[in-house]
Amino acid sequence: MSDLTYTPIDDIPKIVQELRTTFLTGLTRPLAYRKEQLKGLHNLIAENETLFKESVYRDLRKPPQELMAGETGAIRQEAIDAIKHLDQWAAPQSVKTTLLNRMNKPHIRKSPLGTVLIIGAWNLPINLLLAPAVGAIAAGNCVILKPSEVSTHTAALLTRLLPKYLDPRSVRIINGAAAETTVLLEQKFDHMFYTGSGNIGKVIMAAAAKQLTPVTLELGGKSPAFVSKDVNIAVAARRLIFGKLFNTGQACIAPDYLIVERGIEEELVKEMKLAIQEFYGASPQTSQSYGRIINNNHFHRLKRLLDTTRGKIVIGGDTQEDDLYIAPTIVLDVKLDDPLMESEIFGPILPIWVVDTINEGIEYVNRNDQPLALYVYSHNMKLADHILENTRSGGAVINDSLIQFMVTALPFGGTGPSGIGNYHGKRTFDIFSHERATLVKNLGMQKALTISYPPYTEKKTSW
Ligand code: NAD
Repeated sequence: MSDLTYTPIDDIPKIVQELRTTFLTGLTRPLAYRKEQLKGLHNLIAENETLFKESVYRDLRKPPQELMAGETGAIRQEAIDAIKHLDQWAAPQSVKTTLLNRMNKPHIRKSPLGTVLIIGAWNLPINLLLAPAVGAIAAGNCVILKPSEVSTHTAALLTRLLPKYLDPRSVRIINGAAAETTVLLEQKFDHMFYTGSGNIGKVIMAAAAKQLTPVTLELGGKSPAFVSKDVNIAVAARRLIFGKLFNTGQACIAPDYLIVERGIEEELVKEMKLAIQEFYGASPQTSQSYGRIINNNHFHRLKRLLDTTRGKIVIGGDTQEDDLYIAPTIVLDVKLDDPLMESEIFGPILPIWVVDTINEGIEYVNRNDQPLALYVYSHNMKLADHILENTRSGGAVINDSLIQFMVTALPFGGTGPSGIGNYHGKRTFDIFSHERATLVKNLGMQKALTISYPPYTEKKTSW
């Protein structure tokens, strides 16, 4: 058990109000203050790597290398980049206009929104909370952070450490589950940034609508990976297995299922089996590189999928409840009405749907919700282009999986049911900034203006 304590419900409105009051004092506006806070955020991670390793290990048995790549390293880099570029990001931007208007010095000011709410998910419990926080702080906002209560050890650690590194007048953590979050969502915010499932995304958006609060929703979906006949099967197998089993498949952009051109499926399975052995040895359960399922609920959800699938389990399939272990599992010959194809798997089970033509796969993807990611494994760039030109998804990668998350210059987010808005790098700063349209007019030359003032005589308008 962790020492996570939920925030008393009666305290929640008070905490939000305190931050709203702080914002109006102007405390968070100076760039020097924002940079100090960003340094604090960076040091929070840098000085406590070992504690974070322990907490995320207790939550997910996450291997330290995966923590570094997907969470701590990524946040540190985001904070460093924000500090480095803040002057430039926050600088007023002049706009091109006509000669007449140029005299009015039209420009865009990047203003903070006010007090914002960030709700994180459990699978990357540090990154999904703090990566948006980097942009929110850089943009000069007060920030309420709501970690996922499911990753309890990391939520408890963040709650303990945060006040030591960030000014509690402008950044606070609120902990809790649905009851606490419901009260939180009733408060007035200037932006809500949520990461998690689409079902709760609808709850967030409905709550935000009551106060006309803008939202960013980072959701999920079933991300397909197309594998064409011409591909280098050994290479594709390794990249797919890495992408699927990173964080034990509990990644929003993990390949959810494969669409494989008929003829290569046996060879692909054989290579994926070899890849699993190379990565995790003969017994993944004893490998330090293989994590665990977050909790019993998710374990049973995944076990049910394995028990009810009508596909052929060709690799893995074994489970152990008291260890929250589910083996890397490949299920061949999955049909479209299989339970594995109903909703996002979010675990280490990879179904393979074999198709006669890639176009069958395209039609299927288009019949369903737009996924967060779409992957194509092929040597044939014309085919890859054809797939991308005829489908929709939040992001796409040709010949690998997951790496789009690491390239902060790329927008990260969904489309349609996989999300609203996108972030990383400067985009996160932009999400939490208002582009304030501003003109500066000279107080001289008043006489020249009388031509546009009433009374609107014919003489004034005959030009
Ligand atoms: P979760 O259970 O951690 O929930 C997310 C957040 O919603 C938590 O902070 C939780 O407290 C809050 N919440 C739960 N019930 C609530 C309620 N009734 N009212 C208000 N808030 C509530 O995470 P999850 O939803 O299981 O996350 C998995 C999903 O998230 C998957 O679909 C995955 O694809 C998606 N995801 C998306 C991204 C992304 O960046 N797009 C990243 C990670 C996960």
